[in-house]
Amino acid sequence: MMNMDERMAMRDLLAEGTPEQKERAKAAFRADMDEQRKRQEEAQQHWVDNYVPETEEEKITHARVKRTGVHPANASVPRGWNTRVDKLVDTIYNVDETATFSQFKSKFGGLRVYGTFNKAATEAVRQAELDCEFLCWWCGALATTKWNYEPACVDHSSQSGFRPKW
Ligand SMILES: [Zn+2]
Repeated sequence: MMNMDERMAMRDLLAEGTPEQKERAKAAFRADMDEQRKRQEEAQQHWVDNYVPETEEEKITHARVKRTGVHPANASVPRGWNTRVDKLVDTIYNVDETATFSQFKSKFGGLRVYGTFNKAATEAVRQAELDCEFLCWWCGALATTKWNYEPACVDHSSQSGFRPKW
């Protein structure tokens, strides 16, 4: 990988070099990015192969990373939605063999699943996102209300004054 000095030199060439020098600088930056990407992929693979998950949440996240290839930081969803999301992954792989995943997350209390999907898989994602609007964020039971943005069942609603920390 380029060190800081090399990087600055290449940046100067990119700005003020001859056309050949600019091409060379571009190629150097591209090669550098490829190497960084490769390192990240190796680090992730190492985590997938060697990390021993301890909590139930970690086990679920680890399994999802292993299965879908997403970065660990992009693999977790609220606890109550895990079952529904795993079912979604089943469905997607059933209808789209070439599907790729990039992120699972919640946004404004709703499920978001990003990746490249065909039409049937996209429809499955939309259905899961709709379903999760009505699944308690904490336990997956039928949501009857919202706590801030998050759907909540009776036990986990603001009325009970209870919001679990996890
Ligand atoms: Zn609940």
